[in-house]
Amino acid sequence: MPKKRAVSAQHAEPSVKLSTRGVARLQGRHPWVYRSDVVEAKDVPPGSLVRVHDLRGKFLGTALYSSSSQIAIRMVSHGSVADLPALVAERIRAAIAYRKELVSNTDAYRIVFSEADFLPGLIVDRYHDVLSLQILTQAMDAAPVREAVLQTLREELQPAGIVERVDPHIRELEQLPPLQSRLLWGEKSSTVISMNSGRMNGEETSGVRFHYDGLEGQKTGAFLDQRENYAAAAQYAHGEALDAFCYQGGFALHLAGKCSSVTGVDSSRPALEMAEKNAALNGRELEWIEANAFDLLREYAAAGRRYDTIVLDPPAFAKTKRDLEKALGGYKELNLRAMKMLRPGGILATCSCSFHVSSADFLKVVADAARDAHKSLRVVENRGAAKDHPILLNVPETSYLQCLILSVSN
Ligand code: SAH
Repeated sequence: MPKKRAVSAQHAEPSVKLSTRGVARLQGRHPWVYRSDVVEAKDVPPGSLVRVHDLRGKFLGTALYSSSSQIAIRMVSHGSVADLPALVAERIRAAIAYRKELVSNTDAYRIVFSEADFLPGLIVDRYHDVLSLQILTQAMDAAPVREAVLQTLREELQPAGIVERVDPHIRELEQLPPLQSRLLWGEKSSTVISMNSGRMNGEETSGVRFHYDGLEGQKTGAFLDQRENYAAAAQYAHGEALDAFCYQGGFALHLAGKCSSVTGVDSSRPALEMAEKNAALNGRELEWIEANAFDLLREYAAAGRRYDTIVLDPPAFAKTKRDLEKALGGYKELNLRAMKMLRPGGILATCSCSFHVSSADFLKVVADAARDAHKSLRVVENRGAAKDHPILLNVPETSYLQCLILSVSN
């Protein structure tokens, strides 16, 4: 009798069967399987844990199921998982331990990066004593999972506040009820962060400080993925500098310690207002210009302006694969103009955060721009996102940021 009960309990667990193509994706160590490769998913509740099988019924592991996303399956284990909240808690602790090994000189960094931390659909950033989380999948939105996330973060990191940032479009896609960005726990949603202390430019510094407001701003409020690139760019920066697409001054404020003058350009007035506050926080004076950076670069180039250091960090031009050609055109134009304005010995730090633009694509488009600008440039560093945004091999979606630091010869 007991044996029979065990068997029927096992049958009660939701399970799915995958096509051969779906199985091949998992064997390629990619955690996602698209709905078109799910052959059978009977009575699987939205956001539930599912046991995953091939067509013959061979068990392949455990996944999170979404009833609405095109990505129906996100693997969480190649074995059995009985208790999702316990697994989530354990993986958050592992993600925190991983950062302890890799992250230094900052109190702002990404703690959990979704698939790259084996927690599909969960992002957690630390901003000094405020934590910011984003939930992107049905499974991570379930109340017991949320509870485990909050409890683990509180136990491990003792924050003064935890905010949730909501992307309404993603909740709609996942057919989750609408929510507002809000304070989830504690009392604090804004704070001051500090990064790149100690080792900037071979000199001891107290780092660069930024205001953070968890309930305002783009993305999760700051571009933490660029943290190490700020310090790298500052290492080579000199003379007169221009930071195009400066947002709240991430690159510009790091350059200010090295350059004789720094101008930041952005089309967003609120971003520049915060950039000015950040400058004051660091006791720096910079020039901020509200403008379309494309127009401004064209104008300045035509007027014969020259710089020693230029940073280009535009928003993602290629949101979909279809935009790729147009995006490459945009990158080429920007880089061409910047190269023309750089003095010999000048430094160009040029970035792309379009996932659809590969590292090879980006290198090629920047090389094409150099050819058209009739300049020879050397690659000083070819960089990506900071180490707290890990790239998971075989999961190209985790690699999206390129940052080339180039030196202009002539
Ligand atoms: N370098 C920044 C992040 C830049 S994000 C950092 O490290 O913090 C991209 C920025 O480009 C945003 O602030 C956005 O307001 C700005 N932007 C978008 N289109 C623009 C345009 N055409 N001209 C100038 N700025 C633009």
